Amino acid sequence: MDHRRISIAEARLRLAQVVACTEAEGPGRRFALWFQGCPLRCPGCCNPEMLSFEGGWEAEVDAIAAQVDRAAASDGIEGITLLGGEPTAQAAGASALARRVRAMGLSVMVFSGFTLEEIRASADPDALNLLAQTDLLVDGPYLRDRPEARRRWIGSSNQRVYALTDRYRVNDPCWSRPNTLELRLVGGELTVNGFPASSAVGIWRRPREARPSEPT
Ligand code: SF4
Repeated sequence: MDHRRISIAEARLRLAQVVACTEAEGPGRRFALWFQGCPLRCPGCCNPEMLSFEGGWEAEVDAIAAQVDRAAASDGIEGITLLGGEPTAQAAGASALARRVRAMGLSVMVFSGFTLEEIRASADPDALNLLAQTDLLVDGPYLRDRPEARRRWIGSSNQRVYALTDRYRVNDPCWSRPNTLELRLVGGELTVNGFPASSAVGIWRRPREARPSEPT
């Protein structure tokens, strides 16, 4: 596992995008956060603008947790999804947020370009803490020559889904339903998330208004 990590305080995260309520990034309605920065370089990565550790914006974990709490009350979200970018590259902040979210009774889903074995072998205490707070893990790099044709929300067929708690089942029918694409007009800008995101490359931009560190 590449140990390159972003240098950022534990109570903060560097983010690229936030969607407060989506049904395109995991089971049920979810609060989704795209992390800014990834040490991997999968050919065909659908979020190349999220690879640099310099982009995005910083947000306080406390502020994000408050937004998650509001989304649970207003939109009935059942959990959060961490993707990117690479969540384990900011494992201290990610695990702190996950702990807060689990304490609210919500679930945590993580997409990582590293395999479960690589994360465990890293012996990175923050990454292990994040795993301990994760209900669903989708692991492994994106391989564009092995596109996933069957499982919803999964990019390539090498990626595995782990139910790390008994909250979800990997054979639930939700995993075989068709993928969805969500479009929003935020502050005059078209934003897109879900699948097939690659079809929208070039026509959309990140939603500045969705930044959780800013007043809403
Ligand atoms: S792990 Fe994900 S974000 Fe990182 S390069 Fe691969 S596909 Fe892109």
